[in-house]
Formats: sequence, C-alpha cells, structure tokens
Amino acid sequence: MKINMSENVIKHSSENPFQSMISRFDKAAKLIGLDESDYNVLKAPQKTVIVNIPVTMDDGKVRVFEGFRVVHNANLGPSKGGIRYSMDVNLDEVKALAAWMTWKCAVVGIPYGGGKGGIKCDPRSMSKGELERLTRSYTDLMFNVFGPDKDIPAPDMGTGQQEMAWIMDEYSKLIGYSSPAVVTGKPIVLGGSLGRVEATGRGVMVSTRSALGKLGISPVGSTCAVQGFGNVGSISAKLLAMQGLKVLAISDISGAYYNPNGLDAEEAIAYRDSNNGTLEGYKGGEKITNNELLELDVTVLVPAAMEDQITEENAERIKAKLIVEGANGPTSASADDILNKKGIMIVPDILANAGGVTVSYFEWVQNRLGYFWTEERVYRRADRVMKTAFESVYAASKEYNCSLRIAAYAVAIKKVAEVEKLRGKFGV
Ligand code: GLU
Repeated sequence: MKINMSENVIKHSSENPFQSMISRFDKAAKLIGLDESDYNVLKAPQKTVIVNIPVTMDDGKVRVFEGFRVVHNANLGPSKGGIRYSMDVNLDEVKALAAWMTWKCAVVGIPYGGGKGGIKCDPRSMSKGELERLTRSYTDLMFNVFGPDKDIPAPDMGTGQQEMAWIMDEYSKLIGYSSPAVVTGKPIVLGGSLGRVEATGRGVMVSTRSALGKLGISPVGSTCAVQGFGNVGSISAKLLAMQGLKVLAISDISGAYYNPNGLDAEEAIAYRDSNNGTLEGYKGGEKITNNELLELDVTVLVPAAMEDQITEENAERIKAKLIVEGANGPTSASADDILNKKGIMIVPDILANAGGVTVSYFEWVQNRLGYFWTEERVYRRADRVMKTAFESVYAASKEYNCSLRIAAYAVAIKKVAEVEKLRGKFGV
C-alpha cells in the first residue's frame, strides 16, 4: 500500500526544527545567565557524520542512501538517541533531534549525552532484506561512532526491535564478541528490557497525571485526543484510557478518527496490528482531518506523530487545556507564545517523552550487569524518574516564572554547562 505522508500531516512552520530548538535554547540561556563560552559550546553539535550507504536492492540495482549521525553533546556520558528512517530526514532535523536528546537526558537525570541518527529512506516501500542490508551497512560506516561507552543508538520513527537486533549483531561481528549494550530497544531475547516498548507512552501518561494534578483536574471524566498511532501514540492512548480519560480521537497516516462517546484504544491497536500496521478502514470513529483532531475541544492533546504539527498557523485554534508532547518537536517555537498566552499548559517533549530513553538507560544498565529486572521494577523506577523530573521542572517554572518548556531547557542547560565547567575541557 502506498501512503502519501504529506497528505495527512501538517508541515507549515516557517522555522525548521533546529531553529525551533535554538530559539528555546536562547531564551533559557538568557534566563539562567549562561556565559558566552558555554553558550557557544552547547549551541553546536560536537560531531556530525554524513555517509552515503550503497545498498543492493532486490532487483539487483544499487541505490545509495544518505545517512546521518549527530552527537550533540557527550559531557554527561555516552551520547544516546534513536535512529530514524524517513524520507523527511535531513541534517537540520537530525541536529535538532540530537540536541533534544542532550536536554532530555539531562532533564531526567540519566548519565548520557545526546545524539541522533537518520537515514533518508522510505522503510514502508523496502523489503526486509533491503532494510537489513541498509541497516548493517549503516552500522559498518558508523563503527567508529557507535560503542557502549561512546554512542548508543535506539529506535525512533520508522525503526524498531528488528533494526536494533541487526545493529547489535553487525557491531558485535566487527568487534568479535556480543555487545548488547551498544544499542537499546532490542528484542527481549537479545537483551532488551521488559517495559521498553511501553516506556515512552507510559511516561506520557505519568506526565499527564502530574500535570493534571497541578491544574486541579481529575483524569477520570477528562477527555483526550492523540495524534499519531505508532508505538508512542497508541500506548499513550491505551494508558490514558486506563486512567479514566475518554479518548475522543486518534490518528495515523491514514487520517484521523473521532468518536464523541470515546474510542476503545485497545481495540484500535488490535485493528492496526491485524491491518498491516495502519488504521486505514477503522470503523470505531468517524473520519476527520488531522487539523480537526488537533483543534478538538478536549482536556488533553497528545501530539505523538512528528515535528511541526502545532505552529503559528493553527495554535490560536487549539482548545485543549493541556498539551503533552509525545513526539519530539511537535510544537514550533513560534506557536509557544500563542499557546502560552491562551493559558494552555504544555509538558514539553524533552520531559514528556523521556520515559523511552529512561528505560533505554535501564536496558543498558541491565546489559552491563548481565542481570535482568522484572517489569514491575522497570515501571516503578521509570515512573519515579518521570515524576521527579516533572516536579523539578515545575519548580523551575515557578522559580523563573516561565513556561514548563523553558524551565525544562533551563534545568537541562544548567546541568550540562556545570559538567562542562567541572570537566574543564570542551568536547568528548
Ligand atoms: N527515539 C527515542 C527518543 O527520541 C528514544 C531514544 C533512546 O531510547 O535512546 O527519545
């Protein structure tokens, strides 16, 4: 099935994601009085690698794919961040995503820096064999970048457990022994962690609960709309429903689906899984557009699809009381002011979706220990990390009298800059 991504997502911000990241970084840097040297160091990525990856396709022809890995900062520990397979991948996007990983890891207090990778490709139109050859060749070309103590990839949009298994295997072959800690988000049998698949959605749910608490709103009887029905969106919808919220709308690349009486998220997940991974033809709600979903009158809006969905063009029409950013960069910087003026609370991406990298960290710890935790322990520890991070960002927003987003950047930048100073050197 061919799906035109551009039909069902809105990308109309005048800024690119890197500019959006920098504009928040600038605001927070000013607020905390970051000195000029630290500012200059933290603004730019430490390492940018671009490779051309030749892959023999099933028809025997060789195609060359452009691949990236950006290490934004590795002061707090090895750089950490996913690998994205999408036709929209470009250097500015990967640079922004890498910086967001630095801030994200610092906000939740895990000992990692930030990195991100991507390959410009359309994974839906490629066979399993083609994807395997692409992933292995990318790993070969990134051999000097990756490493359990250097740079640790993970899944992101368009990648999942199978790609992580190939990366683990290829890297292990190159060093001559099994190295599960080089990558996270692996299948459980290969050293993956229980709870990793649910981790980002679970963190979205925990942050939603914390934020609703601050707003004095009970989750029971509240409503939500979730944009995106991949790993993050679908699990967020399911867990929010379990907290008593009514899920009024969901969406994926096939469109958005609305039911004023509430949709059954678990049923929608089962439908998607039996339907080639898409909601196409889903009958649990009437078809609406993605724009209409974003503008629904709900308590909570969870954008969990991709960047630049809420921009200066539609921000004025957003009616939710709370936005919890499951995706990275779903709100452009120019939309922030409009939403803030409207009094909408936003739990920013670098806090709201940090549950994923938190459990990635737990996976890496378990790999290095060679000792595996129960699902209950993973959840308990991840929930605690998310709750503590939310409270520290909330406290910073009161201290600096700013939005949760700028407070999250402030907390993160302060921490990374402090380490920079203590280490007394710039760079890895
Ligand atoms: N891709 C996910 C993110 O953006 C997870 C990264 C990781 O687990 O390293 O947070």
